[in-house]
Amino acid sequence: MLDYIKRFLIAIIMALCVSLLFIGAKHSEAAALSEKPTLGKTWIWPAEGVISDTYGTRQGRHKGIDIAGKWDSPILAVEDGVVVKSYYSDTYGNVIFIKHPSQFVTVYAHLNKRFVKQGQFVKQGEMIGKMGKTGQATGTHLHFETHLQEWRYDKKFAMDPESLLGKASVGEAVQMGIAGGARDALAVNSPYDHMKGSEDQYVVKQGDTLYSIARKRNISVETIKRLNHLTSDMIKPNQILNVR
Ligand SMILES: [Zn+2]
Repeated sequence: MLDYIKRFLIAIIMALCVSLLFIGAKHSEAAALSEKPTLGKTWIWPAEGVISDTYGTRQGRHKGIDIAGKWDSPILAVEDGVVVKSYYSDTYGNVIFIKHPSQFVTVYAHLNKRFVKQGQFVKQGEMIGKMGKTGQATGTHLHFETHLQEWRYDKKFAMDPESLLGKASVGEAVQMGIAGGARDALAVNSPYDHMKGSEDQYVVKQGDTLYSIARKRNISVETIKRLNHLTSDMIKPNQILNVR
């Protein structure tokens, strides 16, 4: 009898070891995936609001676009990337710099809150901060810049963010999370087809509802809303939703 129990225990211990091996392997695989940046996704608009100024105004000194929106509304990363700076500056206020695998650097300024630290990896659509008017800002808005390769003090490599996000004129409303229109501009630098078949994200098609997407991806409507900071059930075609 004792021998039987002994054998039984050994079998259980062995089974545990084997399953631990599997769990361990799965975990490291997941970690490797989340650390590996995906190349060149189509960008999404980083904030909800109305375009209040465009690139190149103020005698060419305005090197970004302004999105005026609600105080404390979410600010999202336009693409996967690594936070290269997150600090308070007298001019930018609370500001975050993100370097993307497509080699662009994006800048999110005048934030009320910052949720990410230098060196942190962020996913597209992740909430990195909240809109504010810190630094040299007259009203609540996001000042958003795009640079090729690196941000420099003289902003030599600045480019019009609308070439990646799609054209929007002053007074036009933009929705956070919506995919940028200028796919060609991105395609020159990197492929953007990663969106297709992505398990983490879902591109809203005509006729989709939160309920239908939730069923397709086997998650709850509440989870989709929480992952995407949605305050209503409204979704639009081409909107990119995080579904994991
Ligand atoms: Zn600005």
